[in-house]
Amino acid sequence: MDTCLFCKIVRGEIPAHTVYEDDATLAFLDIHPVNPGHTLVVPKRHSFNLLDIDPADWAAVAESTRHVSKLVHDVLAADGINLQMNNREHAGQDVDHPHVHIIPRYRGDGLPHWRGKSYQPGEAEEIIAKLRAAHA
Ligand code: AMP
Ligand code: ZN
Repeated sequence: MDTCLFCKIVRGEIPAHTVYEDDATLAFLDIHPVNPGHTLVVPKRHSFNLLDIDPADWAAVAESTRHVSKLVHDVLAADGINLQMNNREHAGQDVDHPHVHIIPRYRGDGLPHWRGKSYQPGEAEEIIAKLRAAHA
């Protein structure tokens, strides 16, 4: 994709701080880190997000994410790791090329956890029935 920001990084047309690279994936520092070492893992082949990525590209991204998470965790002496992936605009996706955020976490770093809601009576059963029917 000519105009895609992360395709341009993959092609080397825009500079990035590369953390790790293999045939199918690239990992580089996020330009606006939540914590220092915040890394993005992308497939080299363009798609939009988790909803249309080729399964083999996703498998490669998943394995690179595992590898780089351990690297970031161990080398930067993190106390934990968050993974996040925003898929589609209303889930917070700004760049339309799949990317997994690897965020090193530290004791007392103050980042808020998302807040859980509660199911209404019968709501979980309704949702599970829909999901299972679509899977059958
Ligand atoms: P998202 O909101 O999940 O689409 O995340 C996009 C991420 O890309 C943001 O965290 C940005 O800080 C990051 N980003 C944008 N431009 C660049 C760039 N040129 N190099 C590295 N990261 C970038
Ligand atoms: Zn792209």
